[in-house]
Amino acid sequence: MAIDKEKIKKAVRMILEAIGEDPNREGLRETPQRFADMLEEILEGYTNIEPEYTLFTEESDLVVISGIKFYSLCEHHLLPFFGLVHVAYLPKGKVIGLSKIVRIVQFYARRLQIQERLTMQIADAVARVTESPDVMVVSEAYHLCMMMRGVKMASPTVVAALRGEFRKDNYLKKEVYDIIAPYRLYKLPF
Ligand code: ZN
Repeated sequence: MAIDKEKIKKAVRMILEAIGEDPNREGLRETPQRFADMLEEILEGYTNIEPEYTLFTEESDLVVISGIKFYSLCEHHLLPFFGLVHVAYLPKGKVIGLSKIVRIVQFYARRLQIQERLTMQIADAVARVTESPDVMVVSEAYHLCMMMRGVKMASPTVVAALRGEFRKDNYLKKEVYDIIAPYRLYKLPF
């Protein structure tokens, strides 16, 4: 789905008028164009084709990739939410390149999202791609819609998706939390 930039530009001009601004003043003249270009970039998950992934044959007990940065856009308020994703899985004789995991995260983050769905989609994609049913994904995000307005939260929202063994085995789950502990997000100082 290609985005309709002309339509976005018209809509932005209307919003500027609706809030009492003059869309023709110097600082705002290029804003509709800039906004349309920005949306095209940060929502590229809609237009991109899911990348191909190469698997390597390798023995490993537990793989944890922590601290993957992401930026997404909340579908309820169209404001950014952003933070870190930590991915763990138990390989079934095959491991996936680490940069591929990062690409999976970006692919699902760059569209209108809610954090819960983003976390589930990443877990499902990692399970599909690694051919392992044992996957755990923890996401932590600051939501500008909860920081700038409403409850004015300064702490990140945490969502976990547990699949297979990670759901059954508390020790395994705890091990992942221990490993990712140094890479977690902390409460902001305001
Ligand atoms: Zn929101």
